Amino acid sequence: MRVLVLGAGYAGLTLARKLERTLPDDVDLVVVDDTGTHLVQHEVHRVVRKPRVAEHITLDLEDVLESATILEGEVVDVDPDANEAHLADGTVLAYDAAAVCLGSETAYYDLPGVREHAIPCKRVSHARRIRESVLDAIALGGHAVVGGAGLSGIQVAGELAALRDEHVNADTDGEATVDENADDDADDASGGGSDLSVTLLEMQDAVAPGFPEPFQRAVHDALEDADVDVRTNATVERATADAVELAGGDAIEYDTFVWTGGIAGTPATGGERVDARADLRVGDSTFVVGDAGEVVDADGEAVPASAQSAIREARVAATNLQKLVEHRRQNDPGAFEPTLERFTFSSPGWLVSVGNDAVAQVGPTVLTGRAAVALKASVGAGYLSGIGDLRNATNLVNDELGLDPGTDDAP
Ligand SMILES: Cc1cc2nc3c(=O)[nH]c(=O)nc-3n(C[C@H](O)[C@H](O)[C@H](O)COP(=O)(O)OP(=O)(O)OC[C@H]3O[C@@H](n4cnc5c(N)ncnc54)[C@H](O)[C@@H]3O)c2cc1C
Repeated sequence: MRVLVLGAGYAGLTLARKLERTLPDDVDLVVVDDTGTHLVQHEVHRVVRKPRVAEHITLDLEDVLESATILEGEVVDVDPDANEAHLADGTVLAYDAAAVCLGSETAYYDLPGVREHAIPCKRVSHARRIRESVLDAIALGGHAVVGGAGLSGIQVAGELAALRDEHVNADTDGEATVDENADDDADDASGGGSDLSVTLLEMQDAVAPGFPEPFQRAVHDALEDADVDVRTNATVERATADAVELAGGDAIEYDTFVWTGGIAGTPATGGERVDARADLRVGDSTFVVGDAGEVVDADGEAVPASAQSAIREARVAATNLQKLVEHRRQNDPGAFEPTLERFTFSSPGWLVSVGNDAVAQVGPTVLTGRAAVALKASVGAGYLSGIGDLRNATNLVNDELGLDPGTDDAP
């Protein structure tokens, strides 16, 4: 019997690690991922300012999985009717049960020029491109525009502002210079620089749309404190090579344009996020978990695309997959289908970084400043230690708290 986990992000890795412990030994558990690594994606924006973070958030799957077979390959199609996954190299993997955990891609909504001119921020390579572009922009005294103020856009804008602050020190004459020693490889800043303005655009009337109002207000304040120009009710209509054009006729010139305006399904699911029921099933033997699915939970609520949703869904999917496998192994045509668990999303709260600051909503309480920064560091580290990577958990705490691992600052 073969069980496939397609994709090894938060959803796939959580699911696979649970199945390693719960599936019978003779079940062939196969994890397919196009990178062969697990990316702690909710920290990817940090790489824009601190390139070394890339190492701490990219984990080799061999190091975090024990018994599953790991296959590095690109899934190009999943057929829940035939119970088959198709890979780019022509391999067809037949399965008895599978979970589609392929995450999402950046959505461009066919806005003219946006895909062509903007840099997305979902992978480490994107963060590196943003860094390169923005260091040039700082040197020119230029302008960065971030389109979309969800979790990723807020955090990217925060990093750009902090990178600017680290690199640009006003001298006593009021002139600005690039501080070559400002971070771990500031030497790629092309000297003689001056400044950067950062604008964050959001088409809704508040940043962090869909999140509780006190959280939205605190995030807005933190962005303004970081000297990010926040523009709400600002709908991007198109982009040219040097300007973003808004509904209503305004145009904002840019040197760096980052697009974080939304997500869509991967090509393997036809570019759509798959509609899933609360038991996370999309076929008799196929589940969808994390960003790859558009899940409506047992209370009828749409589940937000987030790392914490992906991890929580994966725990329910693991139970359901295991029940299904047990049932199929009985090989008793008279046996009733097992009753599958239904997913209910309830969040303990939300957390974002805004450069060196952070905002947390825990229950009804909103935290900012050191308390929120410490919470953010502990959540990231808790996740890494939970998947058995203590070394990078420590590194991440150092990165988040701005401690130099080579000094006595480090815990
Ligand atoms: C900059 C940024 C900041 C964020 N901040 C937060 C935050 O603060 N809090 C929060 O909860 N969420 C945050 N998110 C959202 C969160 O990262 C996603 O919701 C989460 O990664 C979804 O998990 P997943 O497992 O569904 O997908 P992913 O983590 O994207 O994993 C998908 C996996 O599938 C692989 N894959 C994709 N396509 C294929 C293919 N065709 N074949 C084989 N493998 C494939 C990928 O390489 C990847 O390993 C942030 C996202 C970004 C980009």
